[in-house]
Amino acid sequence: MSATVNGGATQALPPFVPPPAANAEATAKKFTPAKLREIDRKLRQPFPPELISWKPQVVSYKGENSTAMGAAYADNRAYTDRLNQVVGSDGWSQSVVLSTSSTYEKEVKKKEKNPETGTWDIETSKILRTARISAVVTVTINGLGSHSNVGESDIADENATTSAYAQGFKRACTEFGLGRYLYDLPATGWLPYDTKSKKFKTEPQLPDWAIPREECMDCKGTISAVTTKDGTAHSVEQVIARSTEVHGRQLCGKCHLVASKKMQERAGKANIGVPAPGVAA
Ligand SMILES: [Zn+2]
Repeated sequence: MSATVNGGATQALPPFVPPPAANAEATAKKFTPAKLREIDRKLRQPFPPELISWKPQVVSYKGENSTAMGAAYADNRAYTDRLNQVVGSDGWSQSVVLSTSSTYEKEVKKKEKNPETGTWDIETSKILRTARISAVVTVTINGLGSHSNVGESDIADENATTSAYAQGFKRACTEFGLGRYLYDLPATGWLPYDTKSKKFKTEPQLPDWAIPREECMDCKGTISAVTTKDGTAHSVEQVIARSTEVHGRQLCGKCHLVASKKMQERAGKANIGVPAPGVAA
């Protein structure tokens, strides 16, 4: 996008060149290659679907029958939560540098309904005087180095600073692989869209691969929720927490049982083993 400056010249914001990852080599030595692979894998995992929202990108205005194509995004919170889970809250940090461009004029076009024909073919336009805020955000993960990226927003936007920062933060995270998968999602296609609430009338669906899967470290299968014989349901998170506590690694229900049996055999008659939970597949 470019903008017209007073006097008619076209001014584009200067392209931002992210600096190279700082100290990556120096700090990466703290982790073993296996640990680095594990961190990388966990950062790249899709977010839980409940943290995904849909933002319309192209809208076809047809009053009640408007449609839009959109893209999935996750709130900043999803990114910070994931960083905290994977490397701990003291394992990463961020810094922000804000700046504002000089003011310029931009043309805003809008389509309106033609009262005679009923079609949306009247185009109005007005000139707005505005400026842009940019936020250069640097995210550092201890042991992995730093990545910087820039977010931008129109100063006239509500929460302009917050959205410029959020965009820069997420883009910097994406360079670590975190949230990267959102860029690979297929287009939503044209879906019914409510122009008043600015929301999709029907939520777009995530493809299967964009729903997080937790892998069992023994059988490499997907860990799913289990229900014990007494009818208690255990979420995937609970299954992982339990096997990590008992066996020191994340296991599916079946492998947890196998590992517990082996543990009991080793414990022998001393009967100090941890009893296996009765898992019904
Ligand atoms: Zn397993």
